[in-house]
Amino acid sequence: MTEFEIRRKIIELCLQMNATGLNQGTSGNISARFGNRMLITPSGIPYEQLHAEDIASMPINSSKLSWDGPCKPSSEWHFHRAILKNKPDLNAVIHTHSTFSTVLSIARESIPAVHYMIGAFGGNSVECAKYATFGTPELSKNIKKAMQERTACLLANHGMVAGGKDLDNAMWAAVELETLAKQYYYAKMAGNMVVLPDDEMENVLELFKGYGQKSKD
Ligand code: 13P
Ligand code: ZN
Repeated sequence: MTEFEIRRKIIELCLQMNATGLNQGTSGNISARFGNRMLITPSGIPYEQLHAEDIASMPINSSKLSWDGPCKPSSEWHFHRAILKNKPDLNAVIHTHSTFSTVLSIARESIPAVHYMIGAFGGNSVECAKYATFGTPELSKNIKKAMQERTACLLANHGMVAGGKDLDNAMWAAVELETLAKQYYYAKMAGNMVVLPDDEMENVLELFKGYGQKSKD
């Protein structure tokens, strides 16, 4: 994809996540890798008003805040940049305040292996990152810990973040995580919950490596 196409795709997914109810208002943010730079939504602008040139461009390997473009990047640039820097397999990151993920994050609960799809995020749980104020390097540090060997986590009293190999894959992951959060929430209401044992999750994680249409070579 060209840089322009990525910028357009980021806006398309912002509009999609709000239209489908996954997110609301100017909450949430989306980033994608483009070479050694990160393209990220600007802070606090309603998604319907966004144009491709409003997406901020930042160097990934820098210790300070600098960006190209007319708009200040998302307040959550710290954790978007840290995820892209620390996880070379992830090329896009989506943060939402989706309802069920946020409800669990308010209870500061991680999601255990109540469904095999938990394996889609790399382990036998989706962890809840410790609370820190939005937009801080501390929040980024807590997310890094919760995402060890994982591609997603909940953010205490805040929401969730999910990464993917590209923007579509990151949106798929965000929708799957919200679905899992909803299923776990209702399962808790229903009672009689069975969590899949670690050896079965190891089996599932192995199967995930070959799941779907992988190339033959
Ligand atoms: P931005 O508008 O700065 O991206 O902030 C939204 C948000 O979700 C902060 O956590
Ligand atoms: Zn947020």
